Amino acid sequence: MNQKIAQHRHCRSCGKAFVGDDKYCSEDCEKGNEETMRKKKRQLLTLYVISVIIMIGALVLSVL
Ligand SMILES: [Zn+2]
Repeated sequence: MNQKIAQHRHCRSCGKAFVGDDKYCSEDCEKGNEETMRKKKRQLLTLYVISVIIMIGALVLSVL
């Protein structure tokens, strides 16, 4: 009786409920989410590089 509810999933991108085995409700959501993840990864990498540069700068300053 509750089979439909038990089998439905929520889209990882928009959160909409849908029936299927995919992580996303549509191709658009999949593409959109991938792009967002890529942007987030790049942001994280930039932040990491900046913090490393600051750390090296602080180290150099403390040695001098
Ligand atoms: Zn979606």
